[in-house]
Amino acid sequence: MKNLSLLLLIYVAVSIALPMHPEKDNEEEDIKLLQDYLNKFYEVEPDPNQLGWKRNAESTTEKLRKMQDFFGLKVTGKLDTETLEMMKKPRCGVPDVGLYGVTLPGWKKNKLTYRIVNHTPDMRKEDVDKAIQKAFKVWSTVTPLIFTRIHEGIADIMIAFGTKVHGHCPRYFDGPLGVLAHAFPPGTGFGGDVHFDEDEDWTTGSAGFNLFLVAAHEVGHALGLSHSSDQRALMFPNYAYVNPSEFPLSPDDISGIQSIYGSPPNAPDKRPATPTSPKTCGSQMSFDAVTTLRREVMFLKGRHLWRLYPDTSEVELELISAFWPSLPSGIQAAYENIKDQILFFKGNNFWVISGYQVLPGYPKNINTLGFPKGVKKIDAAVCNKNTGKTYFFTGDKYWRYDENSQSIEKGYPRQIVDDFPGISQKVDAVFQHKGFFYFFHGSKQQEFDPNAKKVIREIKSNSWFKC
Ligand SMILES: [Zn+2]
Ligand SMILES: [Zn+2]
Repeated sequence: MKNLSLLLLIYVAVSIALPMHPEKDNEEEDIKLLQDYLNKFYEVEPDPNQLGWKRNAESTTEKLRKMQDFFGLKVTGKLDTETLEMMKKPRCGVPDVGLYGVTLPGWKKNKLTYRIVNHTPDMRKEDVDKAIQKAFKVWSTVTPLIFTRIHEGIADIMIAFGTKVHGHCPRYFDGPLGVLAHAFPPGTGFGGDVHFDEDEDWTTGSAGFNLFLVAAHEVGHALGLSHSSDQRALMFPNYAYVNPSEFPLSPDDISGIQSIYGSPPNAPDKRPATPTSPKTCGSQMSFDAVTTLRREVMFLKGRHLWRLYPDTSEVELELISAFWPSLPSGIQAAYENIKDQILFFKGNNFWVISGYQVLPGYPKNINTLGFPKGVKKIDAAVCNKNTGKTYFFTGDKYWRYDENSQSIEKGYPRQIVDDFPGISQKVDAVFQHKGFFYFFHGSKQQEFDPNAKKVIREIKSNSWFKC
């Protein structure tokens, strides 16, 4: 209790900022979470001289402001709901304030060894080996680094699973959730080592925590990278599921690692295509799916989503996985139903989302909605909330679905062009706004008046973004 007055100040701030949690118990829990979080990630920083950790002497408010700034939250120095939510997310155990990358030159050699000291019982042994190997490959494809696995002795990068206090590690784990793993910057001893919290559920898929994704992040630390505040970066501290078949590095990760080790020696055309964030105002901008979500409109493309507030034209670009870690990228259709839920479609699967929760039991096959077996995917969907009718578009046909009776109506499918004159091409995405339908095809969208049954105007697909 070295700083009682400050603590008192935060108590006051909390009771103002969190009116929905009036109970003192919660306040105490929140304060404890705050202190723990700041101590772990904003106080101890790696000391480049001793390869250990040193403390900085900033006040709690200063650290909190630093944390809010790092995560792109409103910098208030107060523990508000958003900040608290961010602090509860599963993440990496390496501090966000640090001197990695900047002052640490990385390994002095390009040929590095790694050893998997033990395996998690959560996964098959060969799946663990594969996940780790693939994690190294992520970094070796963009650098001159070569990784070789050894089975005994001391490797540069020793990989192990442990719980709570583990081995002689100076850092310990916290049980399920919270910290998932940690790693040490290049060096001898613990330098370069990667530890995973065995209290987590490690998987090859989207449930639990994907070992490959966490390992790839930790190997980034083992090579000398610090955390990135870029949400799209693999080196962002919070866990976010992305489809492991996609290359997980962002331009930020690549420029970071190449500033230490340089580019791979082989021809640049051998490098993987790097996922760049889509150019919102590009002239060829198209969308995979568009849906309303209460007063917002969400535009989806690849692994990104834009949240647009039509009233203010405010736009935010986010990763789909930052909201719904278990959803795949490349969603093909999405709509908001009469219960304020969103349905996402990809291939013959669909997911139902309520708030930020993917409902259990999903994905389900679209045949469970009543589509005949021949329907393999949905191109676009929109629900008219006033009538409770949902329109599903695929190819040149559409179906009408009654949300109340939860069934496809008789007489469908019908030709789109018969009932929506002027809509003659495949529909990429559709949503409804102020009574009009907006049909997207490639870089164009058509504003359709359902009462007059005609296209009013054709505009660019990204016209909502005030480009
Ligand atoms: Zn990390
Ligand atoms: Zn450890």
